[in-house]
Amino acid sequence: MRFRSLESRIVTLFLVLLVVVQVVGLLVIQRGINTNARNSISAELVNGAKVFSRLLDQNAQNLRSGARLLTRDAGFLSAVGSTDEDDRATIESVLANHGRRIKASLSMLINAERKVTASTNNEQSAGLEKMVFGMLDQAEQADGAIGIAIVDRRPYQVVVMPVKAPITIGWVVMAFPIDERLAREMHEITSLQTTILTENAKGGWLPVASTLPASAVASMTSQMDGASGEVFDLNLGGDRYSVRMMRIGEDDGQRAVVVLGRSIDEATAEYARLERWLVLLTVAGLLVSAVASVLTAKRIAQPLTELAGTAKRLEQGDYKAQADVRGEDEIGALAVAFNTMRDGIAKREQEIRRLAYWDPLTNLPNRAQFLLLLNDSIELARKRGESIYVLMMDLDRFKHVNDVMGHSFGDALLKQVAGRLLHQLANRRHTAAQVARLGGDEFAVLLPGADLDHAIVIAAEILRALETPLSLDEQTVDIGAGIGIAGFPEHGQDGEALLSMAEVAMYDAKQRSEGAVVYSSEIDKGSEQSLSLLTELRHALERNEFRLWVQPKIGLGNGHVIGAEALVRWVHPVRGNVFPDQFIPFAEQTGFIRVLTQWVLERSAELCHELAMRGIHIKISVNLSTRDLLDQELPFKFAGIFARHQVSPGSFCLEITESAIMDDPVRAQQTLERLHAMGCDLSIDDFGTGYSSLAYLKRLPVDELKIDKSFVLNMVEDVGDAKIVRSTIDLGHNMGLRVVAEGVESREAWDMLARLGCDQGQGYFMSRPIAADQLAGWVETWRASTHATATFAE
Ligand code: C2E
Ligand code: CA
Ligand code: CA
Repeated sequence: MRFRSLESRIVTLFLVLLVVVQVVGLLVIQRGINTNARNSISAELVNGAKVFSRLLDQNAQNLRSGARLLTRDAGFLSAVGSTDEDDRATIESVLANHGRRIKASLSMLINAERKVTASTNNEQSAGLEKMVFGMLDQAEQADGAIGIAIVDRRPYQVVVMPVKAPITIGWVVMAFPIDERLAREMHEITSLQTTILTENAKGGWLPVASTLPASAVASMTSQMDGASGEVFDLNLGGDRYSVRMMRIGEDDGQRAVVVLGRSIDEATAEYARLERWLVLLTVAGLLVSAVASVLTAKRIAQPLTELAGTAKRLEQGDYKAQADVRGEDEIGALAVAFNTMRDGIAKREQEIRRLAYWDPLTNLPNRAQFLLLLNDSIELARKRGESIYVLMMDLDRFKHVNDVMGHSFGDALLKQVAGRLLHQLANRRHTAAQVARLGGDEFAVLLPGADLDHAIVIAAEILRALETPLSLDEQTVDIGAGIGIAGFPEHGQDGEALLSMAEVAMYDAKQRSEGAVVYSSEIDKGSEQSLSLLTELRHALERNEFRLWVQPKIGLGNGHVIGAEALVRWVHPVRGNVFPDQFIPFAEQTGFIRVLTQWVLERSAELCHELAMRGIHIKISVNLSTRDLLDQELPFKFAGIFARHQVSPGSFCLEITESAIMDDPVRAQQTLERLHAMGCDLSIDDFGTGYSSLAYLKRLPVDELKIDKSFVLNMVEDVGDAKIVRSTIDLGHNMGLRVVAEGVESREAWDMLARLGCDQGQGYFMSRPIAADQLAGWVETWRASTHATATFAE
């Protein structure tokens, strides 16, 4: 819509400009023509007036010379001189002849007594008498006089010539009418419309002669009444005339005038034609420029519309849209730039797509792409009534490898794993199978059309393929994996659901160290519970639901209270006392354990300080997990806590399980070394249940071995357990470590351990774990009781 309006705006602008320019031009030209015509008319009229005067003069000269000729005629002279009747006739005939020759309307003779003696027209002569007699003296002196007379409202040119022989014996008078003839002659010479009029004393106009038609003349006299000045305009029978009025003469209060007229329309006719041409040209020009401006506007606006359309298609993701605009001009350049931009965008989008849907490291589809593929094949399977299985695989210890061997090694390892997966599936000729890397060390395999047995077999084959150690840079790495299996339609109806089910099964597989696990709703329930458990744990900390409990550690030789192990309890508002076994493993999995460890250490430091104030100086043992050991900041955090509570690190023993060390020995060792350097004792917890190599043990800065309670609980009855306990004690001592037995439930166990040289014991026999605030009281009771020395006394 906008573009159309641009087009029409351009056209309108052009046309309005053009019309304004043309109309102004026309007006100026018309004004010029008008003044020009007026000027030429008025010049014509001025000239006309001169011509008319000249004509009158000419007539006057004719009359004068005609009259003079007559007065020199000998016959005439003698006839005038005589008084004979015959001579009178001669005079009359001579007068008539001469008058005719010069076209006088009247000739007459006045005698010396100033009486009319002969006249060719008695009626006229009577009207002339008065004026003529007034001219006689002037004529005698100036050899003739000329004047204008008006008789019967008609003007005449009158010449009076004295007849001398040699004295004046009379006067010849000749009159010449100013009439039609003169008007016509005037018209012939000047082509001006000539009208002769007389005006009586009352101002009434009477036309005498005119070259105009009668109706025009009538219309002229009616308009003459109001006319003023010499030059004015008249409207004569529809024609506009510019006229010039000129006085011819006056006689006895009457006036004779000539009105010279020129038709304005006639004078401007040529110009009017020119003007019509001009208008025509203007209209034609307007039309041409209208067309031209429409075309130009289209040329500008249409490519823009087209580009806008292309942009719209680009917006919708159609990168084939080509801006089909050619031209060398700016718009052409814009189109070219547009196309380049489109190519650029297309390329970048392709790249983004590649990055968004492909894993650049392994060149496998990523999670997003896998999900698309999965959903597509679910659609297909639904139509065909087939089933689909998804395997989700997570590598074991990959994080560890990555941390220890470096990221580039980790990347290379992932590439090899991807290669093995592809190779394995290619071997099976399961051509439709799709491998994807979901992220990190997580891979997925899509098996369209497979059934459960098939999926299990393939999972097993993949696991077997990964059993062969990977060799990289002359290093050999053992890498296992956990696989979760879920299928459509058995487990889930859409890709997202299937993936999360496979994931749940995979975590279960890893937790239980079973290679592949098929999804079942029971696992999921567990995982759902886990999720809500994590939220609950966080809330527990905020709501202060954790409690610090402690279990005393006793010197088996003398019965002295040497220390206490800090054990956490969760007082759940609904479930009541929750034991660590129910949430510690989970807290370790999720990383929440770090927060919890800090909390325990904080409370333990508090306790240690309080006890010291009461004169009880014992070591507090705190349990650490794998996640804690991987935290490089841990020693700093601990130092902060110790400082805050004004306790020395030497008042603490940190218990670590063997598996915690083995998960990432390098990093664990670093952390442990720093903690040990601070002054903390280190203890290997649950000793005997892990697979720790003695080599590691030797390298670690350990102070204490804690024999797992599973060996201690039955050692009195079970010879095997007793042997394990004994050799563990020996081993510890041989390595210069202190040995602690946990799970001491009976006097017999105490005695036996004491005999074997075990340094300390911890167990229900001495005390079950108790709330931290009861410890001081318990210690006092213990010291007061016989236990403290009883065993030793025996
Ligand atoms: P553990 O470190 O081996 O702790 C000793 C466990 O043995 C405690 O169980 C204690 O109540 C129990 N025990 C002590 N003497 C006897 C006995 O004579 N007979 C029997 N049958 N059991 C005895 P608890 O408190 O349920 O703790 C279980 C495990 O939870 C602990 O094993 C430890 O691994 C973990 N845990 C407890 N508190 C914490 C903590 O604050 N941080 C961490 N990371 N782990 C903790
Ligand atoms: Ca412990
Ligand atoms: Ca233990």
